[in-house]
Formats: sequence, structure tokens, C-alpha cells
Amino acid sequence: MDASTTTLDVLVIGAGVSGLTAAYELGKRGTAVAIADAGPDPGGVIGTRERDGFLYETGANSALDTSPALDALFDELGILGERRDAGPNGSNRFIVRDGRLVALPTSPGAFLTTRAFTLAAKLRLLREPFVAPAPAQAEETIADFVRRRLGREFLDYAIDPFVSGIYAGDPERISVPAAFPKLFALEQKHGSLIRGQIMGARERRRRAETSKNAARSFSFAAGMKTLPEALARRIARYDRGVRVTSIARAADGLEVQGIRAGTGVRYRARRVVCATAAHAAAPMFASAAPALARALAAIEYAPVCVVASAYRRDRVAHALDGFGVLVPRRERRRILGTLFSSSLFEGRAPAGHVLLTTFAGGRRNPEVTALDDEALAKTVGEELGALLGAREPLWNEIVRWAHAIPQYTIGHLARVAAVDEAAAALPGLGFCANWRGGVSFGDCIRNGQATAEAVARSLAPAAQAA
Ligand SMILES: Cc1cc2nc3c(=O)[nH]c(=O)nc-3n(C[C@H](O)[C@H](O)[C@H](O)COP(=O)(O)OP(=O)(O)OC[C@H]3O[C@@H](n4cnc5c(N)ncnc54)[C@H](O)[C@@H]3O)c2cc1C
Repeated sequence: MDASTTTLDVLVIGAGVSGLTAAYELGKRGTAVAIADAGPDPGGVIGTRERDGFLYETGANSALDTSPALDALFDELGILGERRDAGPNGSNRFIVRDGRLVALPTSPGAFLTTRAFTLAAKLRLLREPFVAPAPAQAEETIADFVRRRLGREFLDYAIDPFVSGIYAGDPERISVPAAFPKLFALEQKHGSLIRGQIMGARERRRRAETSKNAARSFSFAAGMKTLPEALARRIARYDRGVRVTSIARAADGLEVQGIRAGTGVRYRARRVVCATAAHAAAPMFASAAPALARALAAIEYAPVCVVASAYRRDRVAHALDGFGVLVPRRERRRILGTLFSSSLFEGRAPAGHVLLTTFAGGRRNPEVTALDDEALAKTVGEELGALLGAREPLWNEIVRWAHAIPQYTIGHLARVAAVDEAAAALPGLGFCANWRGGVSFGDCIRNGQATAEAVARSLAPAAQAA
């Protein structure tokens, strides 16, 4: 196996939204950069597919408009006009309570009358401003944090389904400082979430930012793949189908080896940005930096299956007048939640039809992800039947992610610090992916931009001389 060598300033490994953003931003700054990815298409877990006039997503279905930096990027890429905001019912979110869908309150007035929480749970919230903050060095789970500040019922019927919705995670294991750093800071700074919310709103207004709970959800006319495809088009060198196998020290930088269609490929780069999932990065360092390989392998993931289901409209009893439904663990169902995809965005289903997107598995029910396609489709169909009155799906498309979402569990920040410490063995190496700095689409873009900035700065002549 012969490998010709490509010499670069920066090689980015992994063309998910994190790596693509970093590579695009570096190219913009005039850096000689290439991106290499094992798969055939850009986007990583983000991908949009079509079937019979339906448009469904393999991963992220929407993103939150939390910062003006997102639109600035879309504008630069010429895709701002493709952006589509969620429909008027997008802010209606349902949870399951006692086997039925209940809308979560969207205003303080609605909170007083909602059936989502009992009167006792509502009264318990009045105590929140008087609950003492945790010590600054404490690393609490989100479950302990919420039980302490807001009470048990709020954990069960608001936070548990929310943690499932973002992380497919277990609130009894997810770390507040790692997964919810803003919440942690709010308590530390203001001593109360309610007081902190009020003060935080003023600070965000000053920075022209929007809180995640107030931000609009959006996608693109042709689905979420629009952004990765637009980024990939603007990157001068994008090597598809290259599976990186090893990274080692070389004179003036790093040597990266990989395989493309059975043939070896080799890169020499002054900097390498590894933008793959942590479990995928680990084997790349097995021989040059075994401690780094072990540190990366210690980052946990949850498996998720995405099931896109097509129905005729008259086969679903529920009005589907919202974003979707999340299922609290206490309800003991076999799905994590379902998005009302064709209610959220136009063009997701042909006239007279609806598209539902269901997530199953996660930390809560990993065994569901082991079901074969037929059994999984049957399980999801039964759950959608019980919850939404849905029957006779036209088809189901199943996408399986064995390592869907990194779990920011207790000890996660220490595990990431251990990765960084071990990475010092390979100068010029950096990481940029959703296992650090946040899992959302917006977090990945922000981190990709920050990584590009730092790498470009480190390559600037002044930085070299210093
Ligand atoms: C099912 C699901 C639903 C989600 N829903 C939402 C949502 O609604 N909203 C939201 O904001 N976020 C959502 N997310 C989270 C968000 O989409 C992801 O966190 C984000 O897209 C991850 O991007 P990334 O670039 O960090 O990693 P990835 O997308 O995992 O990309 C990593 C890339 O590395 C490549 N790679 C791996 N190994 C190698 C190798 N050896 N050599 C070369 N290349 C390699 C892979 O091919 C891949 O392209 C969801 C995630 C999932 C899984």
C-alpha cells in the first residue's frame, strides 16, 4: 500500500458541522487547510433524506436561533434565504402525563392553570429564591440540582424529558457544570434561578443574544443538510471517504495516515484539528499516544434510533398542533419522544399526509436500539397509536446511531481535561467536536469558529516567534 503525502498548514479530520465550520473559517483566513472524512457526504450525524415526497432528517431536525452569529454565517454562505422558522405552533411542546399529551405552559399565566404540574409542585416553586446555592466546587447531577431547587415533580415532568430530548441522557448521571454551565453559573452568581433569569435577560439584551428557551427553532427549506453542504462547497480541499487510522509526531507538525478505498493516504500538517466523535478518535492515537487514546475512549455516548414515520393525515387523531411530545421516564413508555415534523416546517410531507420523527433508546432504554427493524417499527407504531391515535403508517425509515450523543455525565469536565493533558504529547493537535463545549448545532458552529480563530492565531508569524 503506497501513500503519497499531502503537505498542509492544517488538516481537519471529520466533516460534521464542527469540523466543517473550523475548516471553512480557516480557509477564509487564507490558511492552507484540507478536511478529510470517512463518509461519502458532509454533515456527520446531520443529513436530510427524501422518500415519496417526504423529507426526513437523520439527526438534528432543527436548531435554535440563539445568536446573530448564525445568520451572519448563513448570509456569508448564501443560504440565509433558505432558512425557515418553525410554524406558528412551534412553541407548543407537549409532555405525556398519566398516558395523555399535556401542553407545557408557555407563559406565567398558563403556568398557573396547566395540568402538567400539580398545585403542590407550583407552590414549591415559590420557595426557589430561598434555597441556598450549592458550594462552588460541587459537581451535582441535574436531577439532584432540580430536586433541591425546584422539587421532585419538576424533575420528573419538565427536566427529565428535556434531558432526554437533548442528550438522550439520564438526569441522575448528567453533570450540571458540564452539561448546563449557564444554569450552574446562574445559581452561583445570583443564588436563585428565578432571580438569575430576570438578571440574565438584561445581560442577553445587551449582547443581542436570545436564551435557549426563548429562541426560535429553524431549519432550511431543503432540510438541515443545507448548512453542511454549503460549508463543504466553500472548502478548497475536501477529501471524502478517507478514514483516518493514525496520528503521530513528525518534523514540524504531525503525520496523519488513513485509508481511502483500500489505498493508504498520508498528510503532513503543522496543525491537526480532530473533529470526530471521541470514540472514533481514540484508535487514531493507539500507538503514538496510548494515554490519549484511553482518555478519549472514556467519554461516554448514548445510542439512539431515529424512526421517521409517514402517515395519511386522516390516520392520526391528534391535531399535531405543536413541536412534538417528550416522554417522562415515569410514564414507562418505550420511546423518548416524537417530533411533529410536518407541523414544524413546510415541505416535510405531501398534502394530506404527515411526517412524525420518533427517537428511541438513549440511556433510558438502550435495549430498544437492539431490536431489529421490524420490531422497532412495530414498537414505535404501538406507542404512536397509544399517544397520538396514529394507525397504519405508510412506511418507517430507521436510522441507527450506536454513539449518538456524548454524555456529559459526572466527571465529564475532568475527562476532557485528561484528554487535553494527554494531547500535549502531540504538539499541534487540537480537538473540536460535540463532546466538548456543547452538543447543539449552534454550540458546534460556535466551537468550530473559536477553534479556527485559535489555530489561525497559533500559525501567525508573531505567535511562531513568541
Ligand atoms: C439523533 C440526533 C438528533 C439530534 N437533534 C438535534 C437537534 O434537533 N438540534 C440540535 O441543535 N442538535 C441536535 N443533535 C446534536 C447535533 O446534531 C450534533 O451534536 C452535531 O451535529 C455533531 O457534530 P460534530 O461535527 O461534532 O460531529 P459528527 O456529526 O459526529 O461528525 C463527525 C464526523 O467525523 C467523521 N469521522 C469519524 N471517524 C472518522 C475517521 N476515522 N476518519 C475520518 N473521519 C471520521 C464522521 O464521518 C463524521 O462525519 C442531534 C444529534 C443526534 C445524533
